[in-house]
Amino acid sequence: MLKLDGLEVSNELRTQLKVEISKWSQGSGRSPGLSVILVGDDPASEVYVRNKVKSCEQVGIESNVIKMPETSSYDDIKEKIENLNLNPKVDGILLQLPLPQGLDERKILELISPDKDPDGLTISNNGLLFCGDAKVQPCTPSGVMEILKFFKIPVQGKKAVVVGRSHIVGLPMFYLLQQANATVTLCHSKTEDLLSHTKEADIVVVAAGRPEFLGKEAFKENAVVIDVGIHRKPMGEKTKLVGDVKYDELEGWAYAATPVPKGVGPMTITMLLKNTFDLAKSHS
Ligand code: NAD
Repeated sequence: MLKLDGLEVSNELRTQLKVEISKWSQGSGRSPGLSVILVGDDPASEVYVRNKVKSCEQVGIESNVIKMPETSSYDDIKEKIENLNLNPKVDGILLQLPLPQGLDERKILELISPDKDPDGLTISNNGLLFCGDAKVQPCTPSGVMEILKFFKIPVQGKKAVVVGRSHIVGLPMFYLLQQANATVTLCHSKTEDLLSHTKEADIVVVAAGRPEFLGKEAFKENAVVIDVGIHRKPMGEKTKLVGDVKYDELEGWAYAATPVPKGVGPMTITMLLKNTFDLAKSHS
């Protein structure tokens, strides 16, 4: 089975980005800028934000984190976002999700100028994606498309199934695969007989958020399996990262699959870097 090593793809893309960003920064007299808004003290979000800041440094994007207390109101966040929208040094504004309970994510995301939305999550960017004209594509599904491209997995004309329909992963994944000319079926928690769909597919992208819930029996022989899920599984005193798919069962059965970790995960931040740089270029 071909291991679709997302870390390898990610390293290659970051090396290219670093070179391009350095050239662009010399020409424009500034670095691309990303501001991350982190509301509350969720430990997992803090780790994600630290990784984003480190990755920005790696490729030459200037980042800053705006930490706001858990008790922040809609108006407090609105004021910050509106200032960032007007700041010419800021190319991308990233709202770290999830927000603390009581804050309306959709309403707050809409405050971000679509020209500064590196996650591609504003309604305007969703609409452009729907029309096949997105300036930035949501990071995780576009990272999946890059993995398929890197490993030369044919998509055109293939039967693809996406499991999960979240606005961040499943739904944009559906659009990107169909824009690449796959015939796509979108499955979700109300789908009847899920396996009757997944077993027919040449490419299956699993983003259900359920630890290790699909094994070999869910896929046809020689399928390409992309596992978006990330979960911490308790193993005695320690924990182990697992996906939505039982990767080990696929050996000798699937044609190719992404492992967890080092599959889709590293690509998500890499696409955030790429999107921030694309926005910076559009601002110059
Ligand atoms: P979500 O909970 O918002 O959505 C899950 C989707 O799966 C829903 O649309 C639901 O209908 C569907 N679903 C749930 N149970 C199902 C079932 N039994 N059969 C069929 N469909 C089912 O989750 P999300 O934000 O889309 O994330 C999905 C997973 O991907 C999570 O594990 C998350 O941690 C992970 N994730 C990883 C990355 C990354 O960078 N690798 C990025 C985002 C999310």
